[in-house]
Amino acid sequence: MERILDVKDLHVSFHTYAGEVKAVRGVNFHVNRGEAVAIVGESGCGKSVTAQSLMKLIPMPPGDIKKGEILFNGENLVNKSNKEMEAIRGKDIGMIFQDPMTSLNPTMTIGNQITEGLIKHQNMSRTDARNRAIELLELVGIPQPEKRIEQYPHEFSGGMRQRAMIAIALACSPKLLIADEPTTALDVTIQAQILDLMKDLQKKMGTSIILITHDLGVVAEMCERVIVMYAGKVIETGTVDDIFYNPQHPYTKGLLRSVPRLDLNRDEPLTPIFGTPPDLLRPPTGCGFTARCESAMRVCQEMDPELNDVSSTQRTACWLQHPLAQNRSGS
Ligand code: SF4
Ligand code: MG
Repeated sequence: MERILDVKDLHVSFHTYAGEVKAVRGVNFHVNRGEAVAIVGESGCGKSVTAQSLMKLIPMPPGDIKKGEILFNGENLVNKSNKEMEAIRGKDIGMIFQDPMTSLNPTMTIGNQITEGLIKHQNMSRTDARNRAIELLELVGIPQPEKRIEQYPHEFSGGMRQRAMIAIALACSPKLLIADEPTTALDVTIQAQILDLMKDLQKKMGTSIILITHDLGVVAEMCERVIVMYAGKVIETGTVDDIFYNPQHPYTKGLLRSVPRLDLNRDEPLTPIFGTPPDLLRPPTGCGFTARCESAMRVCQEMDPELNDVSSTQRTACWLQHPLAQNRSGS
């Protein structure tokens, strides 16, 4: 399968007064063309920083891509200038953020923010672009789009802004769409509409999607593959079925136990994972999950396990699943 994105050994830090926060610590993953991949994990696990780094949208400084490659269509984005990145953003890669206020331009009308990309990247005439913008606003469920198109972001409600941002991201039919908690702030009906819209784009245009979310229901519905992150690292990857029905890493198992599942006995109590993730100012030498893991062994404190193949589709970073470990089991 053709890879549209290949992230290799990505390290991202933030330089703070307290020291260097190692937010992303050697992340590897890929996305195939036309595939929807979820990145899941607790807040602070590095999923948002990873997503923003892909488009070089972390503020530098204090942010710093210290090491690694981000190969998009075979080109390494890490070496691109701001100007080159601007050409890629919005044209080849679209992004939907959690907080629309930080990604919408407060000084431009919503309409101009949509047409800008269409005129610049798709050589559309002003009239065609305007018509397309109205169509897009309609598509994301914004009423009276002819009127709304002349308004500024502050004249939109939170949910409307979120939808406007999605219209902007979809405008140029990007090859890759990165969505960070795209529907968290929206009510359930609109949420379903937006997810349908993204699925549609994937089907019709072959758009690849990276979906960052804590909503495992959305993952099951939207995605083919899952990347589980913990303490700045990828600790397990697999198909949706691998991760939901045959999780191997103790953290992934805990994550699944901590969310309500429709297919399980409703009377079964939800067990949150006790403890907190490690402080990434002083990341642990060994496995980052040691302090919270019921199965922790001495080796876990001393050495960090690499990702090992569990099957042809699943990989996990846990000493219990090391090829030479005694009691490999599916439990
Ligand atoms: Fe637990 Fe050790 Fe596996 Fe980490 S490597 S998840 S501490 S058993
Ligand atoms: Mg986040």
